[in-house]
Amino acid sequence: MYIKADIIKDILEETIGHGKRDIDEILQKGLEKKGLSYRDVATLLQVSEKKQLDKIYKAAGKIKKDIYGDRIVLFAPLYISDYCVNNCLYCGYKRDNNFKRQRLNQKQIEEEVILLENMGHKRLALEVGEDPVNCDIDYVLEGIETIYSTYSKQGDIRRINVNIAATSVENYKKLKQADIGTYILFQETYHKPTFQRVHANSKKGNYDYHLKAFDRAMEAGIDDVGGGVLFGLADYKFEILALMMHNLHLENQYGVGFHTISVPRLKKAEGMDINDFPHILDDESFKKIVAILRLAMPYTGLILSTRETPEMRKEVIEYGVSQISAGSCTGVNAYKNSAEGGENKQFDVDDNRAPIEVLKELVDCGHIPSYCTSCYRKGRTGEKFAKMAKEGEIQNVCTPNALITFMEFILNYGDRELLEKGEKLVYSKVKEISSNELRRRTLNCLKMVYDGKRDIFL
Ligand code: SAM
Repeated sequence: MYIKADIIKDILEETIGHGKRDIDEILQKGLEKKGLSYRDVATLLQVSEKKQLDKIYKAAGKIKKDIYGDRIVLFAPLYISDYCVNNCLYCGYKRDNNFKRQRLNQKQIEEEVILLENMGHKRLALEVGEDPVNCDIDYVLEGIETIYSTYSKQGDIRRINVNIAATSVENYKKLKQADIGTYILFQETYHKPTFQRVHANSKKGNYDYHLKAFDRAMEAGIDDVGGGVLFGLADYKFEILALMMHNLHLENQYGVGFHTISVPRLKKAEGMDINDFPHILDDESFKKIVAILRLAMPYTGLILSTRETPEMRKEVIEYGVSQISAGSCTGVNAYKNSAEGGENKQFDVDDNRAPIEVLKELVDCGHIPSYCTSCYRKGRTGEKFAKMAKEGEIQNVCTPNALITFMEFILNYGDRELLEKGEKLVYSKVKEISSNELRRRTLNCLKMVYDGKRDIFL
């Protein structure tokens, strides 16, 4: 298997106390945007002094700005079934939790989608528990079809990323055919004994099968895959090096690594006591992880959810995160229930703001909220996307598309305050586009949006 626990342990031991290495030298290497070695990353992970941490944040912030500019992509999760055959110790959907399970019918999915579209969302992450009987692949595929074909008065969903349990090549082929964006699967933990303990007596408990899910997805033709670790289950330093190993395996084998990495931290959920988990990640280590991932894998998108507080989100956006969820509900039928004041969720969230409030703060901080979904619709996925990103070419489409889709949001869903500050931001960012031709095309598209045209992109 390609996660070599012994090697990771040796590297971590060797780098305790930084192994006499100069942090500045590693950060200088990171700034070249070619990534870092396992030893480099392990050395940075051992840093705990404030002055040195600040240097890491500064270097990561520079890379973030160089590669992603001021753009932040927005999305929301959509849970359609909470049936689950697994008994994952950390999860509110575990089999032993006794609550009335539900799976939405197509009409109910449509209703949830309309609520999400009315918030302005264009990208969803589709979430389900694992249950081959109550939530089989055909149900997921039908759900995807329903989502793509549900149009509200002002909006539509243009990209569905899918977060379903590890499955077969055959099922991945079906997902590919259904036109999904990224296939997302968290390894939860790369530490095999912990993986087996927290997934005991569960279908999900087969470490090797779970770990090889992306190999099967790639074999099936899905070239955008998104990894992640549920931080809090095992030692975070081990997890980061293992994530890098997984990424390198995919790069070597398929020519492209993770399209995105998610950094969920363990949250309180029904039927679990967070104090039973000895590796809970403190805020300082969390910030360090985000910054180090940005330095180690500069071109991989970093996804942050509403598990984090508004304050934490605001901070880590500066030096790492490129995609955030907003207005999220983490339960089945939860958008409808929350509109009606009810609650049923997989785990707690810590940012309960509506998307428009999140957007206002992003604009105040000089960020461009982006609802762009053009890449996979234009075939810019997998190796092709990675190549364009590394050559800096992707910037030429990303910034204009962010501005165009943000303007669409402002005109469809904005209030007076967002209109005023949003328009100001958009035109100041247009001025910063250095190519005359690109500036002209962007202004053209913006004019089309004002004229009522929608879903315009380069
Ligand atoms: N059932 C699929 C699977 O097993 O991969 C989909 C995953 S589930 C709907 C989405 C993710 O929620 C899980 O992969 C897990 O990392 C995360 N999660 C579960 N319980 C959590 C908790 N208590 N706090 C934070 N995240 C949690």
